[in-house]
Amino acid sequence: MNEQKSFQDNSFGSLFLIPTPIGNLEDMTFRAVRQLEDVDLIAAEDTRNTKNLLNHFKIDTTQISFHEHNKVQRIPELIEKLKKGINIAQVSDAGTPSISDPGKELVQEAIKQGINVIPLPGATASITALIASGLVPQPFYFYGFLTRKGKQRNEEIEDIVNRVETSIIYESPFRVLKTLDDIRKVAGDDRQIVTARELTKIHESFVRGAIKEVKQWFVEHDPKGEFVIVVSGKKQVSEINVDNTDIKKEVQALIDDGYKPKAAIKEIANLVNKSKNEVYDIYHEL
Ligand code: SAM
Repeated sequence: MNEQKSFQDNSFGSLFLIPTPIGNLEDMTFRAVRQLEDVDLIAAEDTRNTKNLLNHFKIDTTQISFHEHNKVQRIPELIEKLKKGINIAQVSDAGTPSISDPGKELVQEAIKQGINVIPLPGATASITALIASGLVPQPFYFYGFLTRKGKQRNEEIEDIVNRVETSIIYESPFRVLKTLDDIRKVAGDDRQIVTARELTKIHESFVRGAIKEVKQWFVEHDPKGEFVIVVSGKKQVSEINVDNTDIKKEVQALIDDGYKPKAAIKEIANLVNKSKNEVYDIYHEL
């Protein structure tokens, strides 16, 4: 059990989690600027990168590096400082700390030690992409980066494709095409997909449509810049017409997409809440 009263006197310092812009410096909040000025120390993923931000806002708070490769030694040092009453802000290179970025282990240790962890709301590519996607915004599933290859990647994609929630994936421009293709192999040609590129920057753009169209678009236009991929959820039983002609059509569509007949029957049986045998009979009899 742990109760935190964020703004009551505490002999320890506080750990402030401060989002930074994902491209557009004007997305820095007044509170974030003020808090970065007020703390004693800023723990930054890349101090040179954060220095540019601090210079822009004329903030001269001292920085210390805190990233994936030094976190094991850095966390005890930061916790010791916090316990001495030093206020620390943690920032990542862009967006919200801990969201596909360093932070979570520091947060966990601070909580364990009774240190107040105070979050500021602010920029994140995930929600920014989601709200303009045009897809159902809730419920959503934020995944972040997929594993780059192997069995685990396949399992991650299968899980995402089978979710009823809208899913949000972060992807590098070099793998956008492959990821779209991998999703298409499992979800079929028609799943609605949105790519959000270079959010908040001058080249911000969205491509929205069926996955086969979006994929084709990127075959013709080289993916460049930073990307979020938003995948619409799997249709729920209540949303699909479960009459037998449709079931047959859906099975056939999956087979045309490259599914083995047995796998297609299983997939549709799952979707319409019928046994594989029933769907097999419908498919073969009609
Ligand atoms: N902490 C960040 C956040 O809150 O969104 C995410 C950091 S993660 C290391 C970087 C990834 O976020 C990029 O590869 C991209 O997928 C996504 N991203 C960050 N900025 C973006 C932007 N301006 N437009 C689109 N995607 C962006």
